[in-house]
Amino acid sequence: MGPGGPRRASGCYGQITITRTLAEPLPGGLDACAAKGFMADAEFQSGVPAMAAKVAINGYGTIGKRVADAVALQDDMEVVGVSKMSPNFEARLAVEKGYALYATTKDALPKFEKAGIKVHGVLEDLLKESDLVVDATPEESGFRPAYEKAGVKAIWQGGEEHSLTNLSFNAGANYAEALGADFVRVPSCNTTGLIRTLYPLDAHLGIDRVLAVMVRRATDPGDSKKGPINAIEPELEMPSHHGPDVQSVLPKLNIHTIAVKVPTTIMHLHAVSVQLKRKATSAQVLDAWRRAPRIKFVKGAEGVKSTAQIMEIARDLGRPRSDLYEIAVWEDGVHVVDGTQLYYFQAVHQESDVVPENVDAIRAMLELEKDGRKSIEKTERTLGIGGSRGH
Ligand code: NAD
Repeated sequence: MGPGGPRRASGCYGQITITRTLAEPLPGGLDACAAKGFMADAEFQSGVPAMAAKVAINGYGTIGKRVADAVALQDDMEVVGVSKMSPNFEARLAVEKGYALYATTKDALPKFEKAGIKVHGVLEDLLKESDLVVDATPEESGFRPAYEKAGVKAIWQGGEEHSLTNLSFNAGANYAEALGADFVRVPSCNTTGLIRTLYPLDAHLGIDRVLAVMVRRATDPGDSKKGPINAIEPELEMPSHHGPDVQSVLPKLNIHTIAVKVPTTIMHLHAVSVQLKRKATSAQVLDAWRRAPRIKFVKGAEGVKSTAQIMEIARDLGRPRSDLYEIAVWEDGVHVVDGTQLYYFQAVHQESDVVPENVDAIRAMLELEKDGRKSIEKTERTLGIGGSRGH
Protein backbone atom coordinates (compact mmCIF):
# COMPACT_ATOMS: atom_id res chain seq x y z
CA MET A 1 0.00 0.00 0.00
CA GLY A 2 1.19 3.50 -0.75
CA PRO A 3 2.05 5.99 1.95
CA GLY A 4 -1.23 7.83 1.74
CA GLY A 5 -3.55 4.96 2.42
CA PRO A 6 -6.87 4.00 1.00
CA ARG A 7 -6.48 4.74 -2.70
CA ARG A 8 -3.46 2.53 -2.98
CA ALA A 9 -5.19 -0.25 -1.05
CA SER A 10 -7.13 -1.05 -4.17
CA GLY A 11 -4.06 -0.83 -6.33
CA CYS A 12 -3.74 -4.54 -6.76
CA TYR A 13 -1.04 -5.13 -9.32
CA GLY A 14 -2.34 -8.63 -9.28
CA GLN A 15 -5.34 -7.65 -11.33
CA ILE A 16 -4.06 -9.53 -14.26
CA THR A 17 -4.27 -8.00 -17.70
CA ILE A 18 -5.64 -10.84 -19.70
CA THR A 19 -5.30 -9.03 -22.99
CA ARG A 20 -1.69 -8.32 -22.38
CA THR A 21 -0.22 -11.47 -20.98
CA LEU A 22 -2.55 -14.25 -20.17
CA ALA A 23 -3.36 -17.21 -22.26
CA GLU A 24 -4.64 -19.14 -19.26
CA PRO A 25 -6.91 -17.89 -16.47
CA LEU A 26 -5.15 -16.98 -13.25
CA PRO A 27 -5.38 -19.86 -10.76
CA GLY A 28 -7.75 -18.72 -8.06
CA GLY A 29 -9.20 -15.98 -10.26
CA LEU A 30 -9.04 -12.24 -9.93
CA ASP A 31 -10.74 -12.26 -6.55
CA ALA A 32 -7.88 -14.24 -5.14
CA CYS A 33 -5.58 -11.52 -6.34
CA ALA A 34 -7.59 -8.85 -4.58
CA ALA A 35 -7.53 -10.88 -1.40
CA LYS A 36 -3.78 -11.06 -1.51
CA GLY A 37 -3.22 -7.35 -1.99
CA PHE A 38 -0.24 -6.74 -4.20
CA MET A 39 -0.06 -8.78 -7.34
CA ALA A 40 3.46 -9.66 -6.87
CA ASP A 41 2.35 -12.61 -4.79
CA ALA A 42 0.10 -13.86 -7.52
CA GLU A 43 2.90 -13.43 -9.99
CA PHE A 44 5.33 -15.41 -7.88
CA GLN A 45 2.86 -18.21 -7.37
CA SER A 46 1.45 -18.47 -10.85
CA GLY A 47 4.35 -17.28 -12.95
CA VAL A 48 1.87 -14.99 -14.68
CA PRO A 49 2.98 -11.40 -15.25
CA ALA A 50 0.78 -8.93 -13.38
CA MET A 51 -0.58 -5.63 -14.60
CA ALA A 52 2.15 -3.10 -15.10
CA ALA A 53 2.77 -0.74 -12.20
CA LYS A 54 2.11 2.91 -12.99
CA VAL A 55 5.19 5.10 -12.69
CA ALA A 56 5.33 8.90 -12.96
CA ILE A 57 8.53 10.83 -13.61
CA ASN A 58 8.74 14.28 -12.02
CA GLY A 59 11.65 16.17 -13.59
CA TYR A 60 12.51 15.16 -17.13
CA GLY A 61 16.14 16.23 -17.37
CA THR A 62 19.41 14.28 -17.48
CA ILE A 63 18.30 11.56 -15.07
CA GLY A 64 14.52 11.72 -15.48
CA LYS A 65 14.47 11.14 -19.23
CA ARG A 66 16.81 8.16 -18.91
CA VAL A 67 14.78 6.60 -16.11
CA ALA A 68 11.61 7.12 -18.15
CA ASP A 69 13.07 5.26 -21.12
CA ALA A 70 14.36 2.45 -18.89
CA VAL A 71 10.97 2.06 -17.17
CA ALA A 72 9.28 1.99 -20.59
CA LEU A 73 11.38 -1.07 -21.49
CA GLN A 74 10.09 -3.15 -18.54
CA ASP A 75 7.06 -5.42 -18.84
CA ASP A 76 6.05 -5.03 -15.20
CA MET A 77 5.89 -1.23 -15.09
CA GLU A 78 4.89 1.60 -17.39
CA VAL A 79 5.39 5.36 -17.61
CA VAL A 80 2.01 7.02 -17.05
CA GLY A 81 3.42 10.49 -17.59
CA VAL A 82 6.31 12.86 -17.11
CA SER A 83 6.16 16.33 -15.60
CA LYS A 84 8.27 19.36 -16.38
CA MET A 85 8.58 22.93 -15.16
CA SER A 86 9.56 24.48 -18.47
CA PRO A 87 8.43 23.92 -22.07
CA ASN A 88 11.94 23.42 -23.42
CA PHE A 89 13.29 21.05 -26.10
CA GLU A 90 13.18 18.13 -23.67
CA ALA A 91 9.47 18.74 -23.11
CA ARG A 92 8.87 18.76 -26.86
CA LEU A 93 10.91 15.57 -27.32
CA ALA A 94 8.99 13.86 -24.51
CA VAL A 95 5.75 14.50 -26.38
CA GLU A 96 7.29 13.32 -29.66
CA LYS A 97 8.36 10.11 -27.92
CA GLY A 98 4.80 9.52 -26.86
CA TYR A 99 5.02 10.29 -23.15
CA ALA A 100 2.04 12.02 -21.59
CA LEU A 101 3.42 15.40 -20.54
CA TYR A 102 2.23 17.32 -17.48
CA ALA A 103 3.19 20.78 -16.23
CA THR A 104 4.66 20.52 -12.75
CA THR A 105 2.62 23.41 -11.34
CA LYS A 106 -0.47 25.39 -12.26
CA ASP A 107 1.76 28.47 -12.64
CA ALA A 108 3.79 26.68 -15.32
CA LEU A 109 0.74 25.75 -17.42
CA PRO A 110 0.46 29.02 -19.40
CA LYS A 111 4.12 28.70 -20.46
CA PHE A 112 3.37 25.36 -22.10
CA GLU A 113 0.23 26.77 -23.74
CA LYS A 114 2.21 29.73 -25.06
CA ALA A 115 4.91 27.42 -26.45
CA GLY A 116 2.25 25.29 -28.16
CA ILE A 117 3.22 22.16 -26.22
CA LYS A 118 0.18 20.11 -25.23
CA VAL A 119 0.00 18.95 -21.64
CA HIS A 120 -2.42 16.56 -19.98
CA GLY A 121 -2.70 18.54 -16.76
CA VAL A 122 -0.48 19.26 -13.78
CA LEU A 123 1.64 17.05 -11.54
CA GLU A 124 -1.23 16.69 -9.08
CA ASP A 125 -3.31 15.07 -11.86
CA LEU A 126 -0.44 12.79 -12.87
CA LEU A 127 0.03 11.58 -9.30
CA LYS A 128 -3.62 10.48 -9.20
CA GLU A 129 -2.80 8.03 -12.02
CA SER A 130 0.39 6.74 -10.40
CA ASP A 131 1.53 4.07 -7.98
CA LEU A 132 5.01 5.55 -7.64
CA VAL A 133 6.82 8.71 -8.71
CA VAL A 134 10.50 8.95 -9.59
CA ASP A 135 11.58 12.44 -8.54
CA ALA A 136 14.45 13.59 -10.75
CA THR A 137 14.10 17.29 -9.98
CA PRO A 138 17.04 19.35 -8.69
CA GLU A 139 17.94 18.86 -5.03
CA GLU A 140 15.59 20.15 -2.37
CA SER A 141 12.72 20.82 -4.76
CA GLY A 142 10.47 19.85 -1.87
CA PHE A 143 7.81 17.55 -3.36
CA ARG A 144 7.54 15.10 -0.46
CA PRO A 145 4.35 16.71 0.96
CA ALA A 146 2.72 16.51 -2.49
CA TYR A 147 3.56 12.82 -2.80
CA GLU A 148 2.31 12.10 0.72
CA LYS A 149 -0.93 13.94 0.01
CA ALA A 150 -1.43 11.95 -3.19
CA GLY A 151 -0.61 8.66 -1.49
CA VAL A 152 2.13 7.65 -3.92
CA LYS A 153 5.46 6.03 -3.20
CA ALA A 154 8.50 8.03 -4.26
CA ILE A 155 12.14 7.65 -5.24
CA TRP A 156 14.55 10.60 -5.03
CA GLN A 157 18.02 11.00 -6.48
CA GLY A 158 21.43 11.68 -5.01
CA GLY A 159 21.09 15.45 -4.79
CA GLU A 160 18.84 14.89 -1.77
CA GLU A 161 20.03 14.09 1.72
CA HIS A 162 19.71 10.56 3.07
CA SER A 163 17.56 11.98 5.87
CA LEU A 164 14.74 12.73 3.38
CA THR A 165 13.93 9.00 3.17
CA ASN A 166 16.22 7.33 5.73
CA LEU A 167 16.61 4.59 3.13
CA SER A 168 19.28 4.86 0.46
CA PHE A 169 19.34 2.12 -2.15
CA ASN A 170 21.73 0.05 -4.18
CA ALA A 171 20.32 -3.03 -5.87
CA GLY A 172 23.37 -5.21 -5.27
CA ALA A 173 23.79 -4.19 -1.64
CA ASN A 174 20.38 -3.72 0.00
CA TYR A 175 17.49 -4.60 -2.35
CA ALA A 176 15.66 -6.47 0.41
CA GLU A 177 15.62 -3.40 2.67
CA ALA A 178 13.53 -1.53 0.09
CA LEU A 179 10.83 -4.21 -0.25
CA GLY A 180 7.52 -2.44 0.27
CA ALA A 181 9.18 0.85 1.26
CA ASP A 182 7.29 4.08 0.60
CA PHE A 183 10.21 6.49 0.18
CA VAL A 184 13.68 5.63 -1.10
CA ARG A 185 16.69 7.60 -2.29
CA VAL A 186 19.08 6.37 -4.98
CA PRO A 187 22.42 7.94 -4.04
CA SER A 188 24.53 9.97 -6.44
CA CYS A 189 26.43 8.66 -9.44
CA ASN A 190 29.75 8.77 -7.55
CA THR A 191 28.35 7.06 -4.47
CA THR A 192 26.67 4.39 -6.59
CA GLY A 193 30.00 3.83 -8.37
CA LEU A 194 31.88 3.35 -5.10
CA ILE A 195 29.25 0.99 -3.69
CA ARG A 196 29.28 -1.14 -6.85
CA THR A 197 32.94 -2.12 -6.38
CA LEU A 198 33.35 -1.81 -2.61
CA TYR A 199 30.36 -3.90 -1.56
CA PRO A 200 31.58 -7.11 -3.31
CA LEU A 201 35.09 -6.57 -1.97
CA ASP A 202 33.78 -6.26 1.56
CA ALA A 203 31.50 -9.28 1.13
CA HIS A 204 34.21 -11.58 -0.31
CA LEU A 205 37.50 -10.32 1.13
CA GLY A 206 36.60 -7.94 3.97
CA ILE A 207 37.55 -4.26 4.03
CA ASP A 208 39.49 -2.66 6.85
CA ARG A 209 39.53 0.87 5.41
CA VAL A 210 39.15 2.77 2.14
CA LEU A 211 40.51 6.02 0.77
CA ALA A 212 38.90 7.06 -2.52
CA VAL A 213 40.21 10.05 -4.44
CA MET A 214 37.50 11.22 -6.79
CA VAL A 215 38.24 13.21 -9.90
CA ARG A 216 34.85 14.63 -10.76
CA ARG A 217 33.52 15.85 -14.07
CA ALA A 218 32.71 19.56 -13.98
CA THR A 219 29.18 19.20 -15.33
CA ASP A 220 27.13 17.16 -17.81
CA PRO A 221 27.68 17.38 -21.59
CA GLY A 222 24.34 19.12 -22.16
CA ASP A 223 25.07 21.87 -19.64
CA SER A 224 26.97 24.90 -20.90
CA LYS A 225 26.53 27.03 -17.78
CA LYS A 226 28.73 25.37 -15.16
CA GLY A 227 32.47 24.93 -14.79
CA PRO A 228 35.32 24.94 -14.16
CA ILE A 229 36.43 25.15 -17.79
CA ASN A 230 40.13 25.77 -17.13
CA ALA A 231 40.92 25.00 -13.51
CA ILE A 232 41.06 22.18 -10.98
CA GLU A 233 38.80 22.76 -8.02
CA PRO A 234 39.43 20.87 -4.77
CA GLU A 235 36.47 20.12 -2.52
CA LEU A 236 37.84 21.48 0.74
CA GLU A 237 35.41 19.71 3.01
CA MET A 238 37.01 16.59 4.47
CA PRO A 239 35.87 13.94 3.99
CA SER A 240 33.99 14.95 0.86
CA HIS A 241 30.28 14.18 1.16
CA HIS A 242 30.74 10.95 -0.81
CA GLY A 243 32.22 8.94 2.09
CA PRO A 244 29.29 9.52 4.46
CA ASP A 245 26.98 8.97 1.50
CA VAL A 246 28.45 5.50 0.86
CA GLN A 247 27.83 4.81 4.55
CA SER A 248 24.14 5.60 4.04
CA VAL A 249 24.00 2.20 2.28
CA LEU A 250 27.04 0.47 3.86
CA PRO A 251 27.00 1.90 7.41
CA LYS A 252 29.91 -0.18 8.71
CA LEU A 253 32.34 0.63 5.90
CA ASN A 254 35.37 2.62 7.09
CA ILE A 255 35.75 5.02 4.15
CA HIS A 256 37.28 8.44 3.57
CA THR A 257 36.93 10.37 0.35
CA ILE A 258 38.72 13.31 -1.25
CA ALA A 259 37.26 15.05 -4.30
CA VAL A 260 38.46 17.46 -6.97
CA LYS A 261 36.54 18.82 -9.96
CA VAL A 262 38.21 18.94 -13.37
CA PRO A 263 37.25 20.43 -16.76
CA THR A 264 35.66 17.39 -18.37
CA THR A 265 32.02 16.48 -18.92
CA ILE A 266 32.07 12.82 -19.87
CA MET A 267 32.87 10.79 -16.75
CA HIS A 268 34.16 10.78 -13.17
CA LEU A 269 37.33 8.87 -12.35
CA HIS A 270 38.07 7.30 -8.96
CA ALA A 271 41.51 6.23 -7.68
CA VAL A 272 40.75 3.85 -4.84
CA SER A 273 43.01 2.51 -2.09
CA VAL A 274 41.59 -0.36 -0.03
CA GLN A 275 43.16 -2.07 2.96
CA LEU A 276 41.70 -5.58 2.81
CA LYS A 277 41.10 -7.70 5.89
CA ARG A 278 42.23 -10.91 4.19
CA LYS A 279 45.17 -11.50 1.88
CA ALA A 280 44.15 -11.66 -1.77
CA THR A 281 45.64 -11.65 -5.23
CA SER A 282 44.48 -9.28 -7.94
CA ALA A 283 42.89 -12.33 -9.62
CA GLN A 284 40.75 -12.91 -6.51
CA VAL A 285 39.77 -9.24 -6.47
CA LEU A 286 38.72 -9.43 -10.11
CA ASP A 287 36.81 -12.62 -9.38
CA ALA A 288 34.82 -10.89 -6.62
CA TRP A 289 33.84 -8.17 -9.08
CA ARG A 290 32.97 -10.65 -11.84
CA ARG A 291 30.30 -12.07 -9.58
CA ALA A 292 28.86 -8.63 -8.87
CA PRO A 293 26.40 -6.68 -11.00
CA ARG A 294 27.11 -3.75 -13.27
CA ILE A 295 30.89 -3.70 -13.34
CA LYS A 296 32.64 -3.70 -16.71
CA PHE A 297 36.34 -4.37 -17.19
CA VAL A 298 38.41 -2.35 -19.60
CA LYS A 299 42.11 -2.73 -20.40
CA GLY A 300 44.83 -0.17 -20.89
CA ALA A 301 46.64 -2.83 -22.92
CA GLU A 302 43.77 -2.72 -25.41
CA GLY A 303 44.10 1.03 -25.83
CA VAL A 304 41.71 2.18 -23.13
CA LYS A 305 44.03 4.86 -21.75
CA SER A 306 41.40 7.32 -20.52
CA THR A 307 37.73 8.05 -20.02
CA ALA A 308 37.62 9.13 -23.69
CA GLN A 309 38.10 5.53 -24.86
CA ILE A 310 35.57 4.26 -22.32
CA MET A 311 32.98 6.59 -23.78
CA GLU A 312 34.02 5.40 -27.24
CA ILE A 313 33.25 1.83 -26.06
CA ALA A 314 29.87 3.08 -24.85
CA ARG A 315 29.18 4.59 -28.27
CA ASP A 316 30.25 1.37 -29.98
CA LEU A 317 27.89 -0.64 -27.77
CA GLY A 318 25.09 1.25 -29.49
CA ARG A 319 22.98 1.87 -26.42
CA PRO A 320 20.58 4.82 -26.20
CA ARG A 321 22.46 8.10 -25.68
CA SER A 322 25.72 6.06 -25.57
CA ASP A 323 25.04 5.41 -21.91
CA LEU A 324 27.31 3.19 -19.84
CA TYR A 325 25.28 1.86 -16.92
CA GLU A 326 28.19 -0.21 -15.60
CA ILE A 327 31.16 1.05 -13.60
CA ALA A 328 34.26 0.69 -15.77
CA VAL A 329 37.25 -0.80 -13.92
CA TRP A 330 40.70 -0.93 -15.50
CA GLU A 331 41.57 -4.63 -15.24
CA ASP A 332 45.27 -3.96 -15.67
CA GLY A 333 45.09 -1.09 -13.17
CA VAL A 334 44.26 -3.44 -10.28
CA HIS A 335 47.28 -3.94 -7.99
CA VAL A 336 47.65 -5.70 -4.66
CA VAL A 337 50.73 -4.81 -2.64
CA ASP A 338 51.89 -6.84 0.40
CA GLY A 339 48.87 -9.13 0.18
CA THR A 340 46.23 -6.76 1.57
CA GLN A 341 46.77 -3.29 0.11
CA LEU A 342 44.64 -2.94 -3.02
CA TYR A 343 44.73 -0.08 -5.52
CA TYR A 344 42.43 0.34 -8.51
CA PHE A 345 40.95 2.89 -10.91
CA GLN A 346 37.36 3.10 -12.03
CA ALA A 347 35.30 5.44 -14.17
CA VAL A 348 31.66 6.41 -13.72
CA HIS A 349 29.26 7.55 -16.44
CA GLN A 350 27.48 10.04 -14.25
CA GLU A 351 24.41 10.44 -16.44
CA SER A 352 23.44 6.78 -16.47
CA ASP A 353 24.89 4.53 -13.74
CA VAL A 354 21.94 5.27 -11.41
CA VAL A 355 19.34 4.40 -14.06
CA PRO A 356 19.20 0.61 -13.46
CA GLU A 357 19.18 1.26 -9.69
CA ASN A 358 16.00 3.34 -10.12
CA VAL A 359 14.33 0.49 -12.01
CA ASP A 360 15.25 -2.04 -9.32
CA ALA A 361 14.13 0.34 -6.58
CA ILE A 362 10.70 0.59 -8.22
CA ARG A 363 10.45 -3.20 -8.34
CA ALA A 364 11.44 -3.56 -4.69
CA MET A 365 9.17 -0.81 -3.37
CA LEU A 366 6.13 -2.11 -5.26
CA GLU A 367 7.14 -5.70 -4.49
CA LEU A 368 6.92 -6.61 -8.15
CA GLU A 369 9.87 -8.92 -7.52
CA LYS A 370 11.01 -10.03 -4.10
CA ASP A 371 14.32 -11.52 -5.18
CA GLY A 372 16.88 -8.79 -5.83
CA ARG A 373 18.98 -10.99 -8.10
CA LYS A 374 15.99 -11.63 -10.36
CA SER A 375 15.20 -7.93 -10.55
CA ILE A 376 18.82 -7.08 -11.34
CA GLU A 377 18.91 -9.71 -14.09
CA LYS A 378 15.65 -8.47 -15.58
CA THR A 379 16.78 -4.86 -15.58
CA GLU A 380 20.12 -5.82 -17.12
CA ARG A 381 18.45 -7.92 -19.82
CA THR A 382 16.19 -5.08 -20.88
CA LEU A 383 18.96 -2.46 -20.82
CA GLY A 384 21.47 -4.70 -22.58
CA ILE A 385 23.86 -4.82 -19.62
CA GLY A 386 26.17 -7.67 -18.79
CA GLY A 387 26.81 -9.21 -22.17
CA SER A 388 30.51 -8.73 -21.79
CA ARG A 389 30.80 -8.81 -18.03
CA GLY A 390 34.03 -10.36 -16.95
CA HIS A 391 35.73 -10.27 -20.29
P1 NAD B 1 18.46 18.35 -14.64
O1 NAD B 1 18.67 19.79 -14.35
O2 NAD B 1 19.08 17.76 -15.84
O3 NAD B 1 16.90 18.04 -14.72
C1 NAD B 1 16.01 18.52 -13.73
C2 NAD B 1 14.58 18.48 -14.21
O4 NAD B 1 13.74 19.04 -13.19
C3 NAD B 1 14.29 19.29 -15.47
O5 NAD B 1 13.28 18.63 -16.20
C4 NAD B 1 13.73 20.63 -14.94
O6 NAD B 1 12.80 21.19 -15.85
C5 NAD B 1 13.02 20.17 -13.69
N1 NAD B 1 13.04 21.21 -12.64
C6 NAD B 1 13.92 22.21 -12.46
N2 NAD B 1 13.62 22.93 -11.36
C7 NAD B 1 12.52 22.35 -10.84
C8 NAD B 1 11.71 22.61 -9.69
N3 NAD B 1 12.00 23.61 -8.85
N4 NAD B 1 10.65 21.83 -9.47
C9 NAD B 1 10.36 20.80 -10.30
N5 NAD B 1 11.07 20.50 -11.39
C10 NAD B 1 12.14 21.26 -11.66
O7 NAD B 1 18.92 17.58 -13.31
P2 NAD B 1 19.57 16.14 -13.20
O8 NAD B 1 21.04 16.24 -13.50
O9 NAD B 1 18.76 15.15 -13.92
O10 NAD B 1 19.49 15.91 -11.63
C11 NAD B 1 18.31 15.45 -11.00
C12 NAD B 1 18.67 14.74 -9.72
O11 NAD B 1 19.51 13.63 -10.06
C13 NAD B 1 19.46 15.57 -8.72
O12 NAD B 1 19.14 15.13 -7.41
C14 NAD B 1 20.90 15.20 -9.03
O13 NAD B 1 21.77 15.42 -7.93
C15 NAD B 1 20.74 13.72 -9.33
N6 NAD B 1 21.80 13.12 -10.14
C16 NAD B 1 22.34 13.77 -11.21
C17 NAD B 1 23.34 13.17 -11.94
C18 NAD B 1 23.98 13.84 -13.11
O14 NAD B 1 25.12 13.54 -13.44
N7 NAD B 1 23.32 14.74 -13.80
C19 NAD B 1 23.81 11.90 -11.59
C20 NAD B 1 23.21 11.23 -10.52
C21 NAD B 1 22.22 11.87 -9.79
